Amino acid sequence: MSNLLNVENLEIKFRTADGTLPAVRNISFSVDREETLCIVGESGSGKSITSLSIMGLLPSNGDITKGSIYLEDENLSGKKEDEMERLRGNKLSMIFQEPMTALNPVLTIGYQLREPLIIHKNMSKKEASQASVELLDKVGIPNPKEKLNQHPHELSGGMRQRVMIAMALACEPSLLIADEPTTALDVTIQAQILDLINDLQSEIGMGVIFVTHDMGVVAEIADRVMVMYGGEVIELADVETLFDNPLHPYTKGLLDSVPDVDDVSKEINAIKGSMPSLNEEIPGCRFHPRCPFAMDICKQKEPPTFEVTSTHYSKCWLQEVNQSEPSNTVTST
Ligand code: SF4
Ligand code: MG
Repeated sequence: MSNLLNVENLEIKFRTADGTLPAVRNISFSVDREETLCIVGESGSGKSITSLSIMGLLPSNGDITKGSIYLEDENLSGKKEDEMERLRGNKLSMIFQEPMTALNPVLTIGYQLREPLIIHKNMSKKEASQASVELLDKVGIPNPKEKLNQHPHELSGGMRQRVMIAMALACEPSLLIADEPTTALDVTIQAQILDLINDLQSEIGMGVIFVTHDMGVVAEIADRVMVMYGGEVIELADVETLFDNPLHPYTKGLLDSVPDVDDVSKEINAIKGSMPSLNEEIPGCRFHPRCPFAMDICKQKEPPTFEVTSTHYSKCWLQEVNQSEPSNTVTST
């Protein structure tokens, strides 16, 4: 295993009053060093839950019930909370949509930046303060020295987002997970933050998982794209292939629903219907009630994941129909 991250046959279930509900259904993927994998899908597709499971931050009623998550040679799915805590902010970092979930409102920016450096990098307080100033400068915060003594509420939303990114990058993580970190920001700041993540990625060599529903962001930053639907991975490809030759009807629908600035006559075809809820067992393909191409087999038999090329996978029966030669199937669920 030479990848940075290897997720194999991951299954996540939630214990609820209505019973045990599957949120992530047998998914496998990997992330390489210096690679950006975008996970896309509507809300409820399982993309955020997948990221939280890698961080060891599933809600308390969520369990990994099957499969493994390897970061280099460590199996994260078997780790105790204190071991995960050691990895977070060290090898693993996460940035969230709402910075206030990551920042502590009662502590100064300086304290929050220094702490991980003192704990994980054995820096003295003075060294950590100096490194904090450099970090804030790197994420484009003006007058970084002054900011060390301020509290999160004294900064604007965009500045808080930058502080959170500085915190996430403080220990030069091997893997950075970003869950819709730019959704709440205006377009200019969003672009600056994407550039920043990209620059730091080549500098540190970290892998990035970027969770988003914005295909414009995907086009800009992804190396590979993983499309999730109803807790499953339904298509996985490098970014050029996904945009030029999407195969799964759901992916096509996602791309069709993006407005085209160069072609105002293009209709915005939002996918009709909605994502199945967790407890909805749908026979055959989980997308079939919404799929304009659904065939008889789709209603009866779950499609396997077809390996179209060595870098392109689609979990859809059309793949079998469209190919004269049967292609490989990598999972037979
Ligand atoms: Fe549509 Fe059938 Fe493909 Fe599912 S398997 S996406 S229902 S064509
Ligand atoms: Mg989400």
